[in-house]
Amino acid sequence: TLKSRRGLPQKRKIRDVAKVVAVSSAKGGVGKSTIAVNLALALARRGIRTGILDTDIFGPSIPTLLNLHGEPRLDSNNCLLPLTNYGLKSMSMGYLLPHASNHESNTTADPSSPPPMDTTPISWRGLMVTKAMQQLLHSVSWGPLDILILDLPPGTGDVQLTIGQEIILDGAVIVSTPQDIALRDAVRGFGMFQKMDVPVLGMVRNMAFFACPNCGHETKIFSHAHGNENQEHGVVAQCKRLGVDFLGDIPLDARVCEDADRGMPTVVAEEGDENSARRRAFMTVA
Ligand code: ADP
Repeated sequence: TLKSRRGLPQKRKIRDVAKVVAVSSAKGGVGKSTIAVNLALALARRGIRTGILDTDIFGPSIPTLLNLHGEPRLDSNNCLLPLTNYGLKSMSMGYLLPHASNHESNTTADPSSPPPMDTTPISWRGLMVTKAMQQLLHSVSWGPLDILILDLPPGTGDVQLTIGQEIILDGAVIVSTPQDIALRDAVRGFGMFQKMDVPVLGMVRNMAFFACPNCGHETKIFSHAHGNENQEHGVVAQCKRLGVDFLGDIPLDARVCEDADRGMPTVVAEEGDENSARRRAFMTVA
């Protein structure tokens, strides 16, 4: 009954979850996880029942970002119980694989020690990925949630397609930096969601400018489409061209990175600070 006519697995809803929104980037290192976790926390701060699912099996960041490293318990139906911090429920492969969580805590505890090598054969990894992904998507006991944020792995490959085939995604948010190359990839990401019939809710421009902590001066570090955002290639212009909402700018700010590293994302760390432009930026995008 779970096969459609074309023989593909039929998309399922995630139990007890009203809406599922994927945060994606076609390129690694653009700040996708940082943005996913801050958006999820911003929604939770507004009283929206929110969870975050880290689907990056080989590079889970959510355990570090939420400072959570315990092992999830199972409920009576053998479903994983999410771990919670700052009022946000979360599930990550990092909680389940001793390797991954050790890697996370090692990097926090002693940045000088290299992460342990993963010597698992590639073929075995492929099988494990599919199984693990299915468990993460279908066997977590979220309880009633208004929104589940999916932190997708970077790229537009098989894992993203599998997720798109397994579950109903209500929308996707694409994270890009102002750099031409990141933006080109972001446009590719847009194409992938279109093929999967997933509405793109909008694009976020991360590291849009550098706000000097001393004088407050804002510098555009990365080329904004040859210095001119009005040119055809800029993030805002691309959004217009694709008919996608531009959701806003997040500044490049050392404190965003520091907050992330110590496991207290900016939305929580600077709660109550009306002057924090970084926090305001995250709240506005959410
Ligand atoms: P991705 O999920 O795209 O691989 P991450 O969210 O892990 O990217 O971010 C990569 C690195 O950049 C992390 O060290 C993170 O703290 C840092 N970072 C992300 N966004 C910002 C920002 N706006 N300002 C400063 N540092 C940032």
